[in-house]
Amino acid sequence: MAVIQTDVVIAGGGIGGTLLAALLVRGGKRVLIVERAKGPPPFLRPEVLWPPAAAALFALKPREFWESECLRPLGGITVDQGGRVEPFVTRVTLARAGVQPFLTQPNHTRETLLGICGAEVRRGVEVIGLLRDGMRVCGLQARVIENGETFEVEAALTVGDDGGESRVLEGCGIGIERREFPVEFIVRGLPWPAQWAPDVVRLYFPAQRGGGLMAFGVMPLPGAAAAALGVVRAGCADDVLAAELEQIFSHAAEVPQELRACGFPHGFTRIRRPWGHAERYGVEGAVLLGDAIHPVTPAGGQGANMAIADAVALARLILAGEKNLVAAYESARRSANERGVRPSRLAGRLFRLLNIPLLGALPGKLLPHLLRREAVVARLLRSLASASAR
Ligand SMILES: Cc1cc2nc3c(=O)[nH]c(=O)nc-3n(C[C@H](O)[C@H](O)[C@H](O)COP(=O)(O)OP(=O)(O)OC[C@H]3O[C@@H](n4cnc5c(N)ncnc54)[C@H](O)[C@@H]3O)c2cc1C
Repeated sequence: MAVIQTDVVIAGGGIGGTLLAALLVRGGKRVLIVERAKGPPPFLRPEVLWPPAAAALFALKPREFWESECLRPLGGITVDQGGRVEPFVTRVTLARAGVQPFLTQPNHTRETLLGICGAEVRRGVEVIGLLRDGMRVCGLQARVIENGETFEVEAALTVGDDGGESRVLEGCGIGIERREFPVEFIVRGLPWPAQWAPDVVRLYFPAQRGGGLMAFGVMPLPGAAAAALGVVRAGCADDVLAAELEQIFSHAAEVPQELRACGFPHGFTRIRRPWGHAERYGVEGAVLLGDAIHPVTPAGGQGANMAIADAVALARLILAGEKNLVAAYESARRSANERGVRPSRLAGRLFRLLNIPLLGALPGKLLPHLLRREAVVARLLRSLASASAR
């Protein structure tokens, strides 16, 4: 069996793993990334990066580089409730909060990072197990998906960035309780309507509550593209969702053709996201980051931001030659990550409450008040922006 030797092997080329690779290569380490997928996922979804995460990318390449294809500064958010359009976040709110969020094209961002990280990247290869020297993890075993060939990678450090069902986490014997989230998400890409402001997110809420589709949003992305995301009750039938999306559009103030053409379920992907926080962040010879140790839902826009902050902290410790890496890393990141997991926990409770018939009408009653409280929205933005950074 072929054996490759390197300093650091990273299982999975998510946003955290590729950023870590870039930072380590710049620090003089030999890094190999083993990624199961041959290319980007076939679907597009929205993603928000908060300033600390964007700053980590800008430290690699100038801001203009990222803004050309991957990131777009958010200019505002409007809410359309049955044809009544109100500003939720404006430039004034953002200035008051002192926060500039970025909308990302997640697939481009990850592909760009993979391209510029400088590490050796093997794609179409899946990690199937870990190598051990006594108790210590000393690398991993991988299989080329196309032909079933297996090989081993021996490394001083093995990193797991292999997502919510991590083989590395399992191989390390680290426990995690993954909790069900009571709603699912529907996502798809579409062209951004030319007549709309290119940096304002549009949110739609159904005129009547209590159905399957709880909210729908469209986010502009670089390159005249957009990503749509709907929040739907778990297990709700496709035909019910299709009718409800149609109903939202029929009551909305303005629905350009690009959006109207988005008939559910065509072109949509349905996503479930369990969430949790691992008992430990690594074992001797191996550490983990991102969704592998703290899978989260899109609530509060934290997952990619946490993975990036993990990568920055890990790179600093590895390059400083930290002897007690797992303990130092965990002490640097656990409490910030716990704050990053919190929006998923709170949103899970909220959605469960909304399933109780009388409480289902609550968002419709509360939303208009929230929309008028700019100071509250600014505070919310500030706390989400910094939640999981450090
Ligand atoms: C609809 C939606 C909206 C979201 N919105 C936001 C948002 O606004 N802001 C935000 O910060 N986050 C958001 N997230 C969460 C965010 O996308 C994730 O938390 C983030 O991508 C996790 O990054 P990661 O580095 O952990 O790697 P992941 O993205 O989890 O990538 C893991 C990689 O490992 C690979 N892999 C898996 N198993 C193996 C194996 N055995 N061998 C080799 N490779 C393997 C996979 O192919 C994948 O490329 C959203 C998620 C969804 C689904």
